[in-house]
Amino acid sequence: MKITILGNCGPYPSAGGACSGYLLEDGENKILIDCGNGVLSRLLEKINNLDEITAVILTHLHSDHISDAMVLRYAVGINKEKGMLNKSIPLFAPAKPTEIFESLQFKDAFVLNTIDESTVLNFGDMQISFKLMVHPVETYGVVVQKGLKKFVYSSDTKYCNAVEEIAKDADLFLCECNVMEIDKTEDTYHLSGKDVGQIANISKVKRVLITHLWPEYNFNDVLNEVKSIFDGDVEIAEEFKTYEV
Ligand SMILES: [Zn+2]
Ligand SMILES: [Zn+2]
Repeated sequence: MKITILGNCGPYPSAGGACSGYLLEDGENKILIDCGNGVLSRLLEKINNLDEITAVILTHLHSDHISDAMVLRYAVGINKEKGMLNKSIPLFAPAKPTEIFESLQFKDAFVLNTIDESTVLNFGDMQISFKLMVHPVETYGVVVQKGLKKFVYSSDTKYCNAVEEIAKDADLFLCECNVMEIDKTEDTYHLSGKDVGQIANISKVKRVLITHLWPEYNFNDVLNEVKSIFDGDVEIAEEFKTYEV
């Protein structure tokens, strides 16, 4: 499996940057996981045609994870209408908030499907499942298993048992790291560098990539906070870089 980072910021981009968007590839299968602002233009640099996209998965319906899906629906819907594209793209997302879920549709661009903890998707040899995280809207962490290889993406979450559970023994754990410990409050529904380090230790993660970084931070300070707790393999998820699992 290959994961390409299309955007690593949240909840808004840095200058010239993009929010959450990750292209998961295995053989013919190309799955776009999250589609925040700035992601579509970068996706188009990685593919030749939108019909190469097997499916889109949105982990939750916050704007920094879906705003370019609102534009992708135009690209797919209009190209389909003009006969330049002959398929709708399957899209998987939480059902709530209902009005946002329904607004994803435009001219049959997507085949809309809801996800929950019972959903299992199979694409070639990859099996994808979901776990409810702790965030202000219905949000799912994503587990991708291919044989003995495991890729996990936290999406957005507060520290919880569920995120430790999905990260267990991950070969690659793409984890949000939106705050530094000093700035965390009761109302912070995100993970700090310290949290990520702790999860990586408890869950015996083999390799960690931190993402969903707040643009106002020096990303190396955030990375160093993780490293102060976890002495394993951890890096900043670098935009345009492809990681193998
Ligand atoms: Zn977010
Ligand atoms: Zn969010």
